[in-house]
Amino acid sequence: MHPTHTPFLLYSDGNGNIFEDETLYAVGRAGWDAFEVDLDNWIPLPDGGNMYELPGRRGVGIDVLTGEMRLCEKGWAVAAFVPPAHTGLFLAAYESLEEAPTLPLFCYTAAGWYNQQFYVTATRIEKDIRQECSGYNDEKIATGAEQLIANYPHNRLVKHLMDNCCNTYNCPAARNFALSRWECPVPASPACNANCIGCVSFQPVEEEITSPQDRLNFKPTVEEIVEFTVPHLMNAPYPIISFGQGCEGEPLLMWEVLRDSIKEIRKHTSRGSININTNGSKPDAVKALIEAGLSSIRVSTNSARTEIYTPYYRPNNYQFDDILESLKVANELGAWSSINYFVFPGMTDSEAEYEALRTLIRTTGLKMIQWRNFNIDPDWYLGLLNISDTGNMLGVKQMQELIKEEFPHLKFGYFNPPMERIKGNFEADFAGGFAQ
Ligand code: SF4
Repeated sequence: MHPTHTPFLLYSDGNGNIFEDETLYAVGRAGWDAFEVDLDNWIPLPDGGNMYELPGRRGVGIDVLTGEMRLCEKGWAVAAFVPPAHTGLFLAAYESLEEAPTLPLFCYTAAGWYNQQFYVTATRIEKDIRQECSGYNDEKIATGAEQLIANYPHNRLVKHLMDNCCNTYNCPAARNFALSRWECPVPASPACNANCIGCVSFQPVEEEITSPQDRLNFKPTVEEIVEFTVPHLMNAPYPIISFGQGCEGEPLLMWEVLRDSIKEIRKHTSRGSININTNGSKPDAVKALIEAGLSSIRVSTNSARTEIYTPYYRPNNYQFDDILESLKVANELGAWSSINYFVFPGMTDSEAEYEALRTLIRTTGLKMIQWRNFNIDPDWYLGLLNISDTGNMLGVKQMQELIKEEFPHLKFGYFNPPMERIKGNFEADFAGGFAQ
C-alpha cells in the first residue's frame, strides 16, 4: 500500500481542476518547515477524503532531477482532508502569497499523485467504522429523521438534531442517530467559557472565516434529553449518548441539567455509555456528573502545555490546570478518560510537547488518546500563537510509537469507545462495527 517512490506534487488551476507535476516530488510540512517524507508515511487517500485547492499559495516540492526544493509556479497548492479514523502525519507544504486568504476550518494534510491515484501522509488510528462514508444510506437517513421528528413532535432537541445537524450540516453522529445506531449526539449548551481561535460553532464577525455550524440557541430540558436518549441506549447496537457537540458551547455550563438527566436515564436503563465531550473546565461539575452515572469523559486540547493551550483557548474563569484536574477526577472515580488531541505536525510531535504529554498521561491516569486532525489554517494558527520556531520534532508516527511503547495500557483511536470496548477486549473486532 505504501508507494515505491515519493508521489508527485499536485497543483490546481484555480478552477477546481487538479493536476500532477511530474517534475516535482511532493513533500510534507511540520511547523514552518518542509521535509521529504518517508515512503511508509504515504497511503492512498481513504474513502471519504477530499482534495482542496489552496488559493494564494504555491506548493513546495523536490525537483526530480536536481533534488533541490523549489516552488511549483504552475498553479495553486493542493491539500487533502483525510477522513475520520485517520491521523494526518504532515501538513501540505506551500508558500503563501501576500494576498492569500485565511483558509476555512478544515485540516490540510500533505497529498501527492502516485500510480494513478491520490496519496496522503496519514495513518489509520481507529478500527471503528462508525463514520465510514460508505456506511451511510441517504434514503434510510431521511426516513429515520422523519420518523424521529414524528415520534417526538414537541422535542426541540430532536428537531435541532434532525433539521440542522442531520439534514443541513450532514453531521455523521446525527446521521447515525437517524439510523438508530452507535453514538447519539446530545448538544445542550448555548454558551461557552472559552474563546477558541478555531471554534467550530462561533466565530466573531470581524474574523475572515466563518464557523461551519451555528451554536444551539436554547437550553434543553431534562425531559427533552431523557425522552430520546433512553430508547437509543436501550435499542441501538454499541450505544453511546454524547453531550458536547460541534453545534454548541461548553456542556459543563449546563451540568445541573445533565446531572438530573443522567440520573433519570439510569432509572430506565443501565445499558450503554453516557459520555461528555468537554473543555474540562469545571472539575467539580465533572465529579457530580460521574457520581450521577456518567461513564466517560473526553477533554479537548490542542496541547499538553499551558503556554500553548491558553493563547488558543483564551479561557474565561478557568485555567489549564482545571482540565488536568477533570481528568484526574475521572480516573479517581473510575470513569473512562480520553483527550481529544488536536494533531498539528511540528507542534504535537515537538520534543517539548512529547515531554509534556508523557507527564499528562502519567499524572492523570489517562485511558485513551484520540489523535484528531486539527481543522485550522496552519499559518493563521502559528501566527496568532506567535510561534516562529516549533523546535526539534520527532515525527507524528514516531511519537505515537514512543507513547505506545512507554504506556502499553493507553488506547489510541479517534472516537469515544462503546461500553463493550471499555469493559471488554478493547482491541476485539465487534461484528458490524469495526474495520475487519
Ligand atoms: S470550547 Fe468548544 S464551544 Fe467553546 S470556544 Fe472552544 S471550540 Fe468553541
